[in-house]
Amino acid sequence: MDTAGSRGARARRGTRPAAPRNRGVEKGSEKGAARSPSRVHVAGESPSGAATPRAPQTDGPPGRGSRPARRAPAAQELPASGAEALPAPRSRAPAARAPAAPRSVAAVPDGAVAAPARRLPPAADALRLREVLSRLSLAREDVSEAATLVNLVVLHLVQAIRSKDSCFSSIERRSAGSYYEQVKISEPNEFDIMLVMPVARIQLDEADDTGAFYYVSFKRNPKEKGWLKFLEEDGKLSAFKMLQALRDIIKQEVKNIKDVEVTVARKKVGCPAITLQIKNPPSEISVDIILTLEAQQSWPLSTQGGLKIEQWLGTKVRRDMRFRSLYLVAKQNKNEKVLRGNTWRLSFSHIEKDMIKNHGNSKTCCESDGPKCCRKRCLKLLKYLLEQLKMKYPKELEKFCSYHVKTAFLHSCVMWPNDSDWHLGDLDHCFQQCLGFFVDCLQKSQLTHFFIPQYNLLSLEDKAKHHFLSRKICQELNNGFPVFHENYSAP
Ligand SMILES: [Zn+2]
Repeated sequence: MDTAGSRGARARRGTRPAAPRNRGVEKGSEKGAARSPSRVHVAGESPSGAATPRAPQTDGPPGRGSRPARRAPAAQELPASGAEALPAPRSRAPAARAPAAPRSVAAVPDGAVAAPARRLPPAADALRLREVLSRLSLAREDVSEAATLVNLVVLHLVQAIRSKDSCFSSIERRSAGSYYEQVKISEPNEFDIMLVMPVARIQLDEADDTGAFYYVSFKRNPKEKGWLKFLEEDGKLSAFKMLQALRDIIKQEVKNIKDVEVTVARKKVGCPAITLQIKNPPSEISVDIILTLEAQQSWPLSTQGGLKIEQWLGTKVRRDMRFRSLYLVAKQNKNEKVLRGNTWRLSFSHIEKDMIKNHGNSKTCCESDGPKCCRKRCLKLLKYLLEQLKMKYPKELEKFCSYHVKTAFLHSCVMWPNDSDWHLGDLDHCFQQCLGFFVDCLQKSQLTHFFIPQYNLLSLEDKAKHHFLSRKICQELNNGFPVFHENYSAP
């Protein structure tokens, strides 16, 4: 039903979930009925944890010093259209935790003006959010079926890649992205797979002032002489050349995969990004291969003041995380106008995944015998809200991706570090608090990269777009999130 070959075809694809494999008809139809209204596709967004921040060359001067302070999020002017204001954050005092407690203005640390107006009583809001979440978790079952198929194909390809080119002999598949963080919510047919290449003794040179993009060269010539073919004249390691070689191998190898029909999407001019298409009637699964370098060396200077998790996860956890490998990805930035065939972007998806999984201030948070929090639920709702809004306003919200909300979420975790700030029963309030913070960032056009404090993910020249999204979020917030219950078919 869909033979389109480009990644752009994702958006036009049918909204039906992949055909259930080995699933009982009865069970399947039951679930289908429950989940169908929420099925959506988001054009041009990667579901990955390694989602692509916007092109750095469009960013204004680094927003140093404007890192989100530890303060209430709702303290900003509302857009003109927002007759109602954001709910005020509640006091951090545990005593104020009951969901129905009135939002206290006095509790706002910096004296932000609180707004009382809300359409539904909190209990009703929470009920509706829980219903949305349970719909999303039903949808996850489709994702895991698709994931099984993806895993089979990737396993086959990795073995072939290793044997065909000695440079790639130690390439490894690494799980990354929202599926593996267990917060994948829609897009059951889209995956990002990291193929990781260990590299030794690399030199990093900043490619711009974001602190996120680097040129990579070897400090000493690698033992494996085959690597020379991936170097440019000035010694820089070319992501472009590596991807091209990988792409050629994969294109040959997909022909040898039996039982499953796999094709490599046609490449865009000058861009060797690799997208696999796996037939899974009646739909198609799309897999982006992300070539990643892994270096056992210290993180660059630009990361020094980032990852401010001391209060939240502790200084030891932070130290341990910063001792972990450095990852650099060759993923093409979708918003890039100029091709950067020789630059690599720092990736922290492995750390993000760990933080989202082990997110408690106390070690036992959300473990079977520990207290439950709503952090992951908040992240899911944030991502779903952006996805739905992107479906509704694809053109206006084109530049936003799940990495923006994930980043805002991580900052929220830092701002409210205690498990008691995220009590499960306070889901609606916590979600609104996260959103309030995100709206604040949008209105200031300042969202600091979580690991690289000098890197602003919201460039000032897109101010109008940031304001547009903040207005839409405020409208949702003030009207009980109608967009969660709207059904979009792809444009
Ligand atoms: Zn928890």
